[in-house]
Formats: sequence, C-alpha cells, structure tokens
Amino acid sequence: MSPTYDVIVIGLGGMGSAAAHHLSARGSRVLGLEKFGPVHSRGSSHGGSRITRQSYFEDPAYVPLLLRAYELYDRLERDTGRDIAALCGGVMLGRPDSRTVSGSRLSAEQWDLPHEMLDAKQIRRRFPTLTPGEDDVALYEARAGLVRPENTVAAHLQLATRNGADLHFEEPMTRWEPYRDGVRVHTAEDTYTAGQLVICPGAWAPELLTDLGVPFTIERQVMYWFQPSGGVAPYLPENHPIYIWEDVEGVQVYGFPAIDGPDLGAKVAFFRKGTPCTPETIERTVHDDEITAMAEQVGRLIPGLPGGFLKAATCMYSNTPDEHFVIARHPAHPGSVTVAAGFSGHGFKFVPVVGEILADLATDGATEHPIELFDPSRLAATPA
Ligand SMILES: Cc1cc2nc3c(=O)[nH]c(=O)nc-3n(C[C@H](O)[C@H](O)[C@H](O)COP(=O)(O)OP(=O)(O)OC[C@H]3O[C@@H](n4cnc5c(N)ncnc54)[C@H](O)[C@@H]3O)c2cc1C
Repeated sequence: MSPTYDVIVIGLGGMGSAAAHHLSARGSRVLGLEKFGPVHSRGSSHGGSRITRQSYFEDPAYVPLLLRAYELYDRLERDTGRDIAALCGGVMLGRPDSRTVSGSRLSAEQWDLPHEMLDAKQIRRRFPTLTPGEDDVALYEARAGLVRPENTVAAHLQLATRNGADLHFEEPMTRWEPYRDGVRVHTAEDTYTAGQLVICPGAWAPELLTDLGVPFTIERQVMYWFQPSGGVAPYLPENHPIYIWEDVEGVQVYGFPAIDGPDLGAKVAFFRKGTPCTPETIERTVHDDEITAMAEQVGRLIPGLPGGFLKAATCMYSNTPDEHFVIARHPAHPGSVTVAAGFSGHGFKFVPVVGEILADLATDGATEHPIELFDPSRLAATPA
C-alpha cells in the first residue's frame, strides 16, 4: 500500500519549504519531495542575500503581502534563532519619472509607508559611497534591507521537520495523476497518494506546469561580488544601504552592503537583462566581458565598489510575461492542485507569506490574502 498524506509539496526551494512549514504547522500530514539536496544552489534561492522592501515599484497590490511577510520573517527568526533579515535601509534611485522611483513612491503614498524623498545632493551627503547624477532622486525606506535565502530555506525545512513533515531529498517527482478525490505522485523510489498537491517548481515550471498554459521563460542571471577599492568599512550595512538604481535607458542595477566580513566584498547584479536558458542548459561559467560590463555599470553609481572582482555565481529567474507571480488553485484541477510559480526575479521577499497562502489554498481552497493579481487565467494562451 502506498504511503498516504494530506498534502504533497513538490520542490523544497524558497516557496515549497515555506509551504511545507505552514501546512505541517496546521497539523497536515505533509510529504515534501525535492529533486536535489536541502538548500542547494541549482535553482533560484541561493547567493547569500535578497533585497526586501515595502514601497514596491512593481505594483501597490503587493504591499499588504509584504507587510505580512515582514511579520512572518520576524517570527521565523525568533522560532529558529537563525540570522535571516537585516533591515539596513534602502534607496530606490533614478530619474523622478523612472519606474523605480515613481512606482516606489506610488506604493509608499498609497499605503502610507514611512519613506523620505532625497535629491542628488542629499543622497551623496547621506550615503557617501553613492554618486548619483544631478537629475537623480531616491526614495529612501528605512525598513528596506535584505533577507538571507539559504538561512530562510533552512529555517523552514527545520520547522517543517520539527512539525513532523516527511521531507525526501534527491527524490524528484517523475509524474503525477488525479487519483480518487486527490492525486497520486510517482518518483523513481515509490508512489504516494494525497488529497492535495502543491507544486512549487521554480525554474522547472515549463516542465512541471505545461498544462497551465502560462508561457514561462527561464532567464540566466549572474550575481557578482567585488572588493571595494578602499576596503569594506564604508560598505558595511550601517553606512551603505541596499539600492536599486535605474539609469536613463531603464537598465536597473541593484546591490547590497558588505555583509559577510572583510574578504567577501559586496554583491551587485543587473535586475533582469538575463539570457534565456533552461535548468539543464544554463551556462554556469561567468565570462570576462560580463564582469567588465557589470563593473562599468555599477562603477557609474558607486565608483569605489568595483575595486577587485572576487567571484560570480549564476541563478535563474522564472518569468511570466507581465512579471507578476502565479499563485492559485490549478484551473484544470481546482479541487486538488495548487501552484506557485513565475516569481519573475522578485519573489524571495514574499517567501513566508507565499507559504501561508499555499497552506490556505491547499487546506481551505481559498485565502484571505489578496492574490487576484496572480491568477494564471490572465496569461493563459487563448485557444485558437
Ligand atoms: C540572481 C537572483 C537574484 C534575485 N534577487 C531577488 C531579490 O533581491 N529579492 C527578491 O525578492 N527576489 C529575488 N530573486 C527571486 C527569488 O530568489 C525567487 O523568486 C525565489 O527564490 C523562487 O523560489 P522558488 O521556490 O520558486 O524556486 P526554487 O527555490 O528554485 O525552488 C524550486 C525547487 O523545485 C525543485 N524541483 C524542480 N523539479 C522538481 C521535481 N520534479 N521534483 C521535486 N522537486 C523539483 C528544485 O530543485 C528547486 O529546489 C532573485 C533571484 C535570482 C536568481
């Protein structure tokens, strides 16, 4: 007889580990299946840091979810004693009419979020590492900062295990099918049945969610660590904020303070501007011309940062056409399957609240969180 569960969660990366925790905390019998080991670097949830912020330029509809995510991140730190979030403050920088500045301001004003608008002179005075152009302005948010992805995933896995979830690593799902009122899931090792399936596939969405009809595209992204020319002191979190800077061409660069000691420098990356890939074919080598392009671009805003190149690592974005998430009951299997995918390079700051939403959807069929924006029917290909 196959083992039976209330819920099977596929993928124990950022979203799936949070779902496994929230479901098991509510008393569900949970099986989590993960293709690789715990907290790995072959998906989208590695690299030491992720920006978190509330004045959300992408859409004000994300703000209530962010407010809840902040509460849950706090609780996760308390419950596990791990170092997860550092709210060092952040600047969203660019021309006043850039999406980064105007969109952040819209969210801040609409939701009455604490923020300050700074002109170029004020930015330079407050953050001497930054040299914005004369026409640049910034929205400064004291509650912006970073979360640590590996520690977040490890914390959720730890709590899920403590709650009694069965977590199987190196055991990918090979296929699943509807079975009685629920689902049957196959792996090379075994077959499992459950009332509910929650699929959190990250960059494997095109493979695992073909029947959703959403045109996901997977993008190779690179994270770069540079050693500042004058040492890391001016780049420590008490002096140097997280930043997203949009230039006049609309190219966005973002980065972090030096959070990992004097030898590991500070991390910086392009937001978007990646190349299409698949998890199987992604080019993991980072080439000299890419490093040069990154150093040149970030050097325009932070001349002291690209002193020496330290290292680079690749990661994948899973994009939807409008860059909004997909979080919903599966339209073809609304009674038994829930999906969370297409986080389009900005999902990590939401991880704990997505876990809570997935637990709501899988156990109650609905959630009180506002997720209308994430309905996959907005993107599904219209039948010919
Ligand atoms: C370079 C980079 C920078 C980013 N910066 C930010 C940022 O600053 N702020 C922010 O909020 N977000 C950021 N993001 C986005 C954020 O990290 C992602 O949205 C988030 O990590 C996605 O989590 P996930 O659970 O969907 O994917 P993953 O964490 O990759 O999890 C998917 C899991 O599914 C598993 N899997 C796949 N197939 C199977 C199968 N058949 N059976 C079992 N398991 C399977 C995979 O092994 C993987 O572990 C960034 C992403 C990248 C790549």
